[in-house]
Amino acid sequence: MRTVKAWAAPSATEPLEATTIERRDLGDNDILIEIAYAGICHSDIHTARSEWGEAPYPLVVGHEIAGTVAEVGSAVTRHAVGDRVGVGCMVNSCRECEQCRAGNEQYCPQQVGTYNSTDRDGTITQGGYSTHIVVDADFALKIPEGIGLDVAAPLLCAGITTWSPLRRWGVGEGSKVAVVGLGGLGHMGVQLAVALGAEVTVLSQSLKKQEDGLALGAVDYRATSDDETFKDLRGKFDLVLNTVSAQLPIRKYLGLLKPEGTLVNVGGPVEPFEVPAFSLIMGGRSLAGSNIGGIPQTQEMLDFCADKGIGAKIEVIPAEKVNEAWERVVASDVRYRFVIDAATI
Ligand code: NAP
Ligand code: ZN
Repeated sequence: MRTVKAWAAPSATEPLEATTIERRDLGDNDILIEIAYAGICHSDIHTARSEWGEAPYPLVVGHEIAGTVAEVGSAVTRHAVGDRVGVGCMVNSCRECEQCRAGNEQYCPQQVGTYNSTDRDGTITQGGYSTHIVVDADFALKIPEGIGLDVAAPLLCAGITTWSPLRRWGVGEGSKVAVVGLGGLGHMGVQLAVALGAEVTVLSQSLKKQEDGLALGAVDYRATSDDETFKDLRGKFDLVLNTVSAQLPIRKYLGLLKPEGTLVNVGGPVEPFEVPAFSLIMGGRSLAGSNIGGIPQTQEMLDFCADKGIGAKIEVIPAEKVNEAWERVVASDVRYRFVIDAATI
């Protein structure tokens, strides 16, 4: 075991505080990563505040991890000391089930999450708001040269979570895509869809971030507070990608789809959506969900980002600002991902 520094939530209602945690000794296929940056995902907040169910405390969150390999176990061939690597939302799975064999480890019933999950040794996993982490080498991604570790960190969750549905629904040249919510996920969704050749519209609560949205490559940017938006854009999109962390009147967004279009939800609000049957029946529309993405697809996304020069738009913060940053995320005041400089942990 080794003792490392971290920032943990002591309970659902108290601010995060500096602490130390134990990381396991390296197993044969484990690597020790010296974390350089950890992105702040809204899921960290939902989880640490027990909004998705009672979390174990103290809890260290963080599943957008970028750093360098500091040590490798005896059987590791995939990574070497000094390699630039990333860890996302998963740190293990069974490797044997149909989903694992297909590279969809996110659907494995035995998937181990990066935090708030029971590891194979029975301990609760602790995430990336920390200086070091020990993970199975197969769950560490290669961060290509050419992407800074700071702008790469958010790709490990925000990047793959938006990339996976864009790929699953075949977004490409000429696709008409609406991205709802211009936060951490949304700003990645816009960049990735644009790079795939789609015509992208941002649907945001207001026009405050319009200039940024257009700079990211969107062709249109509309305020959802204005009812005209829903009239003007009715029936226009092949895919609506909802990244909003709060409940939305989803019926209005379904109306934006072309016949047989899909609204794919990745946001995780606590309250359920209300979906009238006829909002799906008319136009033969689909309402779908998507959960991060598998390890092979995460590598595909990282390679694509390196190739296209895509990274997250970030604000790097010292660890002591993490509570302030969380409040700003909750208030939709983030442009567009906070990233903790692990050297300050
Ligand atoms: P974020 O940075 O806070 O972005 C969410 C955006 O939603 C905000 O920037 C805001 O965009 C919009 N929004 C927030 N409150 C709203 C409200 N009351 N009404 C309308 N719009 C609102 O969060 P994130 O890190 O991107 O995560 C977004 C959601 O996805 C979270 O619920 C998170 O847990 C979930 N998530 C899911 C997966 C998955 O695998 N499915 C993975 C990661 C995260 P505007 O200011 O532009 O309106
Ligand atoms: Zn996340």
